[in-house]
Amino acid sequence: MREAMNAGRAAVIFDRDGVLNLDHGYVGEPDRLEWTPGARRAIGRLNRAGLLVIVVTNQSGVARGRFDEAAVDRLHAVMRADLAQDGARIDAFYVCPFHSEATVAAYRHPDHPDRKPNPGLILKALADWAIDPGRALLVGDQPSDLEAARRAGIAGVRFPGGDLGDFLATLTLPK
Ligand SMILES: [Mg+2]
Repeated sequence: MREAMNAGRAAVIFDRDGVLNLDHGYVGEPDRLEWTPGARRAIGRLNRAGLLVIVVTNQSGVARGRFDEAAVDRLHAVMRADLAQDGARIDAFYVCPFHSEATVAAYRHPDHPDRKPNPGLILKALADWAIDPGRALLVGDQPSDLEAARRAGIAGVRFPGGDLGDFLATLTLPK
């Protein structure tokens, strides 16, 4: 038992825009949220399989002044509420609001360690949730997602679009 605990937990770590929801560009308010087909059902299946479900998302719209961090939180609250209707949940959201070309000075950073392709958000999630890097899989839609996974020392796969549940069914998921 002790060994199993020391081994850490298994997780699927999702990018958000273009994976869990359709990427309409700077999705900052709940009325612009459109779930990817199959995403909610897929998250429920992962929950029931005992996997942690984590989101790591760059939100440069905050740095660019298009919306604020409170709006991001509101959107994530709506996502949680939608999932709760299905008996599903996202265990945690990790957000990077920084960007090198921020118009909001507080969010300007030349190369923030949290902004993918840097691994900061993933590393935080691994530490916070005692996730075994060998039992973590990142699902992203951009090369920067896969590079962040590589730098964090976890596996990564590119979601090409379509039904997320069908796509996950083609993968060997962490156990
Ligand atoms: Mg994306």
